[in-house]
Amino acid sequence: MTESADEKAAQNSEHRRIDGKALAARLRRELKARAEAAGIIPCLAVIRVGEDPASRTYVGAKIKACAEAGFASRHIALPEDVSEEALLEEIRRLNSDADVHGILVQLPLPRHIGEHRVLAAIRPDKDADGFHPLNAGRLFLGLDAPVPCTPRGILRLLDEERISLRGKHAVVIGRSNIVGKPVASLLLARDATVTICHSKTPNLAEEVRRADVLVSAVGKAGLVRPEWLKPGAVVIDVGINRTPEGRLTGDADPACAEVASAITPVPGGVGPMTVAMLLENTFELAMAAKGKNGAPDA
Ligand code: NDP
Repeated sequence: MTESADEKAAQNSEHRRIDGKALAARLRRELKARAEAAGIIPCLAVIRVGEDPASRTYVGAKIKACAEAGFASRHIALPEDVSEEALLEEIRRLNSDADVHGILVQLPLPRHIGEHRVLAAIRPDKDADGFHPLNAGRLFLGLDAPVPCTPRGILRLLDEERISLRGKHAVVIGRSNIVGKPVASLLLARDATVTICHSKTPNLAEEVRRADVLVSAVGKAGLVRPEWLKPGAVVIDVGINRTPEGRLTGDADPACAEVASAITPVPGGVGPMTVAMLLENTFELAMAAKGKNGAPDA
């Protein structure tokens, strides 16, 4: 009894651990109920090229999450040496399949395939990852679009934790098209003042020290030092790294939890939210398709 009271007190103390796993589980249950209530079975098609072990794990988790939420899914596994044209043909087939609402191509792709050409071939209204250039542009302009899953999950975690962003200084480490740039765009749209850092940023520690909210999306264990943080900063750790012992760990040194007011653990923070947001995107694409099919052409 005493222990659980202590645990509760620790959770409510200044150093909060943001439980992405629990929130993602709740969101997945809610999406299942929303799809049932709407009388739709959203369908996600996932294309994987080659046998990269991490890609296999991620795709497996996405397919499993679909099944658990009562969504349909298609898993298309293509060989490592598949031609770009054959991959594009597969995408065109899924684009014109009315039963498929969301399409994603698991990245990275083998070097002989043009990633930008592939992402641009997905119909923007079936773009489950929000990586199509049209949707990336719409997001940047603040227009309605499918939002990339990890950035969307980060904003949802911040909202659920009631962490306000208006007037706050947000620092994003990493400028990839899938995490760094879109999350910076979303934070800006919420009236944060945003700094984006990358490998050529001369004094990372100094930039991080100004952060009320820090998002680290690099992939380097222990990069973010506790002494860099402003006391009470919120830390969203996107990084996924494997220690020599095989454990998963984020970009933030574990001692950051002692300085931050709230921090996402790795695993169990941003990762599960990414999958939950993929389901949410697929659900929304399915709802939009239902609306279009039910309405006369504009
Ligand atoms: P990328 O490799 O595409 O981008 C990494 C970014 O980090 C680049 O912008 C790079 O700078 C920057 N960087 C590298 N070294 C440093 C440094 N020493 N100081 C400052 N910046 C640095 O990675 P992703 O965005 O795809 O992913 C980032 C991490 O997040 C990875 O660990 C990945 O596994 C994880 N991830 C987790 C997800 C989740 O659901 N939890 C989802 C997606 C990714 P530059 O541009 O100059 O090279």
